[in-house]
Amino acid sequence: MVLRKLELRHFRNLGIQELHFPPEGVAVVGDNAQGKTNLLEAIYYLESFRSFRGAGDAELTAFSEDVFHIRGSVDGSEPATVAAGFDRKTRSKRVTVDGNDAARISAALGRLGAVVFSPSDAGMVSGGPGVRRRFLDIVLSLNRRRYLETLQEYRRTLAQRNAALRAASGGPVSREWVSPWEEGMVESGARLIRMRGEWVSTWGPHFTRCYEAISGGDSAALSYRPNPGSDGTPGTADDTATAAESTLREHFRVRLNESWQRDSRLGVTSAGPHRDELLVTVSTGGGARPARAYGSGGQRRTAALALRLTEAATIRQQRGEEPILLVDDAFAELDSGRSSRLATLLAEEGTGQVILTVPKESDVRLPGRSLPCWHIRAGVIAA
Ligand code: ATP
Ligand code: MG
Repeated sequence: MVLRKLELRHFRNLGIQELHFPPEGVAVVGDNAQGKTNLLEAIYYLESFRSFRGAGDAELTAFSEDVFHIRGSVDGSEPATVAAGFDRKTRSKRVTVDGNDAARISAALGRLGAVVFSPSDAGMVSGGPGVRRRFLDIVLSLNRRRYLETLQEYRRTLAQRNAALRAASGGPVSREWVSPWEEGMVESGARLIRMRGEWVSTWGPHFTRCYEAISGGDSAALSYRPNPGSDGTPGTADDTATAAESTLREHFRVRLNESWQRDSRLGVTSAGPHRDELLVTVSTGGGARPARAYGSGGQRRTAALALRLTEAATIRQQRGEEPILLVDDAFAELDSGRSSRLATLLAEEGTGQVILTVPKESDVRLPGRSLPCWHIRAGVIAA
């Protein structure tokens, strides 16, 4: 996919602008706080209809305005014009594809086929399991049919079971109040576990290759710790890709049965893929250890970059097209060996459009590719 045209109105500090992107991409150079990340945030908004920085829509609206609009045209096997608008006063969001209102926002997701590389990605490795589940959920929602629908179904039935567990507010809850929600949870939960397990076993080796290519020495691995695992215990096995979904369902039923009394005391469901872990380990000190606890800053950055490159590879394989790489200051915090190996890898892996932001022109270094340089100052972009 290639982003050709981007029209902005009052998104953060970017004002009113129309940008025409070269097919190979561009390097956007600017000092701190000029709007580099805002620009990538605007582009990725057309992929996911939310801020990749986790900001609310109201925060994305220019301080002095009530409404923002973004429109982008992408070329590729499925050309599309995607537009989004938000009104701070009515808190309403509107999304259109080729001028037609999307029935649901989820129907318009993923039209750009873009991946963002951000310095804050290190948080995916150093943070709790929830941030890595979120990564998995986003990658799979954008790239696997039925995943998002299954996830929503799982969340709905989980919330109903939790509500039933709490219904007696301190008093005894009977099994019959809770069990009606379980079959729906088991059905959707087992499918989530299988899809997550398949993704990790398919792409784990790619993650390791990317990590090694950047680190030039130490290694890292991804493994999936589903809850319940394929042997029925939480977080122990990661061979779910080969386990039949019916086996996963059976284990999940057993676990819900075993834990329901404890769950009713706590008022929450303790077993299920909402407690899964996508484990990132680094080989350090002669063994594989969780990067979250033992990785250095540079190792976590490297692992985060490898996760994003793996996300990009998923898009490439799924859609048979090059993803758009949105690279926000990727070389920050890497030593010179790692940053030059990353530059080589980005140039090799990303043969499609690359939109790169850097604080200094001398930081633009993709071997074998010359990207035009644009400059940004107080939100205004000039070629
Ligand atoms: P750095 O190199 O430090 O990462 P950057 O160029 O990526 O900087 P951005 O995060 O894109 O900077 O932009 C930050 C600027 O945008 C800040 O000056 C901030 O005040 C401004 N800004 C953020 N939200 C809004 C908004 N809703 N309306 C207007 N300006 C905003
Ligand atoms: Mg920034």
